[in-house]
Amino acid sequence: MVLYYLGLIANPVFIAADVLLYREYLSSLLEIRAVLELGFVICFVMLKRRVALFTPNVLLALWVLIGNLCIAQMTVILGGFTAQYYNGLNLVFLAAAVIVPISWPTHLAAQLGTLLYYYGANFLHAQSQAGLDAAIENSFFLVWTCVALLFSVNLYERLQRAEFQARVSERRISRQLEASNRKLLELDRLKSEFFANISHELRTPLTLSLGALKTLQNFSLNPESEQLVLSGLRNTSRLLFLINELLDLAKFDSGRAELRKRCIDMATLVRSVAANFESSQKSRVHLKGVSESALAEVDPRQMKKVLYNLFSNAFKFNDYEKGQVWVRLTAKEDCLELEIEDNGIGIPRDQLERIFDRFTQVEGSATRRYEGSGIGLALVKEIVRLHEGAVTVESKVGQGSTFTIKLPRGRASPEDLVTVEDDDTVTVPVLPICEQDSARGMTPSSPSSSDLPLVLIVDDHPDMRSYLERVLSRRYRVVLAKEGADALEQAKTFYPDLILTDVMMPRMSGYDLLKAVRGDPKLRSIPVVFLTARAGTEARIESLEAGADDYVAKPFDENELLARTSNLIRERAQERELVQLQKEKIARFLPPHLADMIIAGDRDDFLKGHRAEITVLFIDLRGFTAFAESAEPEVLIAILREYQTEMGSLISEYGGTLERFSGDAMMVFFNDPIPVPNHAEQAVRMAIAMRDRSAELRMKWTKRGIDLGVGIGIATGYASLGVIGFERRRDYAAIGPVTNLAARLCGEAQHGQILISGRVLEVVEPLVSSEAVGPLTLKGFQRPVLAYNIKGLRPFKD
Ligand code: ADP
Repeated sequence: MVLYYLGLIANPVFIAADVLLYREYLSSLLEIRAVLELGFVICFVMLKRRVALFTPNVLLALWVLIGNLCIAQMTVILGGFTAQYYNGLNLVFLAAAVIVPISWPTHLAAQLGTLLYYYGANFLHAQSQAGLDAAIENSFFLVWTCVALLFSVNLYERLQRAEFQARVSERRISRQLEASNRKLLELDRLKSEFFANISHELRTPLTLSLGALKTLQNFSLNPESEQLVLSGLRNTSRLLFLINELLDLAKFDSGRAELRKRCIDMATLVRSVAANFESSQKSRVHLKGVSESALAEVDPRQMKKVLYNLFSNAFKFNDYEKGQVWVRLTAKEDCLELEIEDNGIGIPRDQLERIFDRFTQVEGSATRRYEGSGIGLALVKEIVRLHEGAVTVESKVGQGSTFTIKLPRGRASPEDLVTVEDDDTVTVPVLPICEQDSARGMTPSSPSSSDLPLVLIVDDHPDMRSYLERVLSRRYRVVLAKEGADALEQAKTFYPDLILTDVMMPRMSGYDLLKAVRGDPKLRSIPVVFLTARAGTEARIESLEAGADDYVAKPFDENELLARTSNLIRERAQERELVQLQKEKIARFLPPHLADMIIAGDRDDFLKGHRAEITVLFIDLRGFTAFAESAEPEVLIAILREYQTEMGSLISEYGGTLERFSGDAMMVFFNDPIPVPNHAEQAVRMAIAMRDRSAELRMKWTKRGIDLGVGIGIATGYASLGVIGFERRRDYAAIGPVTNLAARLCGEAQHGQILISGRVLEVVEPLVSSEAVGPLTLKGFQRPVLAYNIKGLRPFKD
């Protein structure tokens, strides 16, 4: 519409230019301008009447086309291609591109139409050479103007489209954000509502349970039932306390928290709260400044919560036995200052700020093990803030923490003083200081039925410990530990069949305990079951990856716990049987302690090739070949067995390693694989014992008409040792002249002789009396060898 107004007005205005520049062509120009004006008028009317065919786009295109054609016609009248009005064409192309909002293809169509008309009409009129030159020159400018304009219109269109799309998506995103924001707010409101409702719903049954338990307390109960009721009371009130804290938090969130201030004596309040944390066994709360009254206008119920939280933290993050708390109340003119100091685990400096945030607990293994919700201090801060006071903390890791509260006293006056009533719902259940365990001791229960498997229960929570004890003692003997280090001691003393341990415990966590158990060769095979409050696959995987044999999440089903533990115990018993069998098998060839060593996998290195100084003893029966030829097989085997049993027991007794039997011959090593400090001496002592024992055997055999005696050879020196053989048959062997020498000496020994090499004699000379034998010519030795026969041990001199 605006463009048409512009056209209708501008066209007559340009008549002035026609008059000034081309007065002689005025009539023709006026005709064209009249046609142009008529065109604009017709289109304008169509626009006004909203004729369907003349859409805004068509009308805009017509605006451009009519203007362009008229100017082209003017050039025809004003001298063809040489006419200056061709500049008008450039001008209208430019103006159209800038102000007429039509698409670039429409612009292109309008420009093509105009150029066609311009060239067609001007060529039809006879043209001079100058005119043709001007046509070429004009074409250059006109075409490039058109191309440049079309390009910029196209670019502008694209920019506009991109901008439009960006705006659309921006609007869509902001609409989505608004919607999700509304949804979140609604969800938050619903959550708070649900939270408040469910907490209320939980409070009712809990209060009723508490009531029932309290009534039960008044009945005359046996000690066990009394303990059960007490444990129920403690834990139900803890739950109630937590729920109340959550409700309080919800109230703070919704801005519904209000203070009901009264004038009270803070000294009395501090004394009464502190009394709940005192122990019957020893004093652990030290009060200062509470003997005089300290009036303040506060909400007593909320203040009680503050004190309970600070006191319970002071003892919770502390040693059960050694935990102490010092409380100082200072009354100043317009404010009260209360300090609660403990000697607990302390808080790292970088975490001091965070601990007042909701659900925040100090990170790191030191506190991870303490149960808690991370609500307490957030509540303390909110309550103190509502009282227009401030709470601060100072702490040193490993030394303790001091929480300081500054409270304005308000308009406290003695006339308005009220006494603070007891209110169960704000108190924290205080845990006893492990009296159950110290009373019962940590020795296994039901020692009489000692064939029952033994389970070690490790938990720092006394109630949980006694609950587990109750459940497991139905099937097992039970031993208790209240923390990791303690558990390790118990495990070393009692070698339990299973360890059931809590994960988060003071000082030594369940993970640390597990590591210690697995690191101890004697405890290594004991199954360890984790008991943890963290449910879910992640916790399960974590436990199993740490090397626990199983994992039970709290709350657990008693039967499931029993089933899991008994499976593991059964598996362990089977494993033990297997180990015993293996041990027996190996012990047939090796001394029992060596068998133990191999099964425990402690000293695999001796199986690898190595060099060591050893003493080798060979023993065999004189006259055996002749006897074997004539004897019945049963008799032969019985005699051999008798002889080998006797000699075998001596080998074990003297710490030798029976390397092999071969018929009546036996080869024994000293000092490898089991280290024997005086190996040559030990071998000689054993040889004498063997000679004595075989003399007894010989007497028995002679009575049965069997003529057998023993010969022994001993040599000492370096040999290469290790396992030789192939996959299905391996042997532990010593290779070197020392074995050969011992074997040859044994071969030379007459009945009752113990022949030793010169090197052995060097070691045992002070110990034995001997006589030289030889020199002997021995197979495998180039020079004759001087040997010595041991007559016996020298008499012991004082
Ligand atoms: P909760 O005790 O339930 O974990 P709190 O809000 O009461 O939650 O305390 C937050 C954290 O601050 C605790 O988990 C603990 O790490 C730390 N903390 C509070 N009081 C003490 C204290 N007296 N000694 C050491 N650490 C403390």
